[in-house]
Amino acid sequence: MDNTVSIIKCDDYKHCYDGVKTALGLIGGIERYVHKGDRVVIKPNLVSKKRPESAVTTNPAFVNAVVRIAEEAGSIVTIAESPGGPYNQAMLKAVYRACGMDKAIEGTSAKLNFDTGFTETEYKDGHTIKRMPIINPVLDADVIISLPKLKTHAMTSYTGAVKNLFGVIPGTYKAEMHFRLDDRAAFCSMLVDLCERVRPALSIMDAITGMEGDGPTSGQDRFVGLVMASANPYALDLAASAVIGYDASEVDTVRISSERGHIPPSADMLDIRGENINSVKISDFIKPESHFNLLKLINLPPALNSMLVNKLSSRPKMEYDKCVSCGECARCCPPHAISMDTGRPVIDKSKCIRCFCCQELCPKSAVKIARPLLNKFMVKFIK
Ligand code: SF4
Ligand code: SF4
Repeated sequence: MDNTVSIIKCDDYKHCYDGVKTALGLIGGIERYVHKGDRVVIKPNLVSKKRPESAVTTNPAFVNAVVRIAEEAGSIVTIAESPGGPYNQAMLKAVYRACGMDKAIEGTSAKLNFDTGFTETEYKDGHTIKRMPIINPVLDADVIISLPKLKTHAMTSYTGAVKNLFGVIPGTYKAEMHFRLDDRAAFCSMLVDLCERVRPALSIMDAITGMEGDGPTSGQDRFVGLVMASANPYALDLAASAVIGYDASEVDTVRISSERGHIPPSADMLDIRGENINSVKISDFIKPESHFNLLKLINLPPALNSMLVNKLSSRPKMEYDKCVSCGECARCCPPHAISMDTGRPVIDKSKCIRCFCCQELCPKSAVKIARPLLNKFMVKFIK
């Protein structure tokens, strides 16, 4: 696979058209990937109803820049996403509006997708899943352009080009995947299967303002000032996760992509164009609390590991002063571990699979990640 990744400095969204254009120029230009008359689906990260300034979703100015560039190459563009929660027209409308997608298509011929159909597809080469439901606009497209946002992620540590494609799985099927694949490595292997099946032609990362801490929705915005692009989504993730301080072995999607031969084992071995990757790395980018996994560091026998997992792992914790009792966390919880019987959310720890969907989809950022004191102390001690 092509291991070329371009990295361009871009200080603000006002200038992101130029940033994206330059980043694409360094990997062959848009004409290499998009041709006149192609039906192009642009897949931003629109995980939930969040305003652009919250740095949760791909910025509308960034989406607009890519739409314009794809249209200049003569393509017909649709923006498509299945956000967290139910996949219906009302939800799509609300998410598009909150995330500024109406603005993103202003002055262009692009359309927002409202077709909520999907098709069960086969992927015989999948390591973890061989069948997957995929939303129809993605299956009908000639070219898929993925627009991930540079962020941390409570469950997978980092979310980028590969993880962005989880949004082609329709609505509540995502919860089913979480439930079936409650082990983080298995879940990430499924994400790599999905990316292999979808095969985006291009992945262009909005790394102008990223998110650190407890991403993907409850962390803090962090200026990064970059646009990154690649035809190889796995290479883009290897480079972008290195920029925010991860070693390839620390991010399961990256590690698995490397084990499958999609990328080399280290970002130093990529063909980076534009900025020198070492000069744009951010050494103090804050990782999510859940990333510090004591059990991974001490590597216990499986039986002992499963005995201690509930005591030592990070887990979601409700902050009731912020909670508005909307029940969204209970609805999205894959194993139904959250009860609203008392009028406010209560987690049954014995059922929780630590997928952090509740933290991801809480509209009030009222779900925090709590790391047991012993875990904090031991990780510090061991490191
Ligand atoms: S989603 Fe958030 S605000 Fe809504 S009930 Fe759950 S914790 Fe409370
Ligand atoms: S309580 Fe939260 S972290 Fe636990 S299984 Fe439910 S959604 Fe996942």
